[in-house]
Amino acid sequence: MVILTVLILGSGCASHYPTPAANNQTMPKNPTSTVQLSEEEWKNKLTPEQFRILREKGTERAFTGEYWNHHENGKYNCAACGAPLFDSGSKFDSGCGWPSYFKPIENNAISEHLDKSHGMIRTEVTCSKCGGHLGHVFTDGPAPTGLRYCINSASIQFVPEEGKVK
Ligand SMILES: [Zn+2]
Repeated sequence: MVILTVLILGSGCASHYPTPAANNQTMPKNPTSTVQLSEEEWKNKLTPEQFRILREKGTERAFTGEYWNHHENGKYNCAACGAPLFDSGSKFDSGCGWPSYFKPIENNAISEHLDKSHGMIRTEVTCSKCGGHLGHVFTDGPAPTGLRYCINSASIQFVPEEGKVK
């Protein structure tokens, strides 16, 4: 008699990029991924465009998103889980067609991952809380950080500054 024991591990958190061990330093710290929904649950919660970008690492076309040319005071929260990600004070006009920021609202609000897709080496940024794909960070940004967080509008939700809502 043959007994087959099949273990199916459903923990999405345990999966790592198949990067060489030498890249340990660039691995995400994966701090408090407190929001964990199944892909089916995300599909119900998000619009098709948000799902394609946040969960399937898609990219909206340049100059088509809601926020690339948006200049109000307030915060930009994760469109999937609502976590605060960026402040309007760190937004700048990069001319690239996506909302761009020189820093996140808190260092641990965003996680970084090495991304070797599409024949490029880039640094992907995701929401630390839910793991949703936001965009990429580049090193051609303005002072004081020199960083450019290039973010999909579909991944974020603007919340006006308190007391300044019309
Ligand atoms: Zn999130």
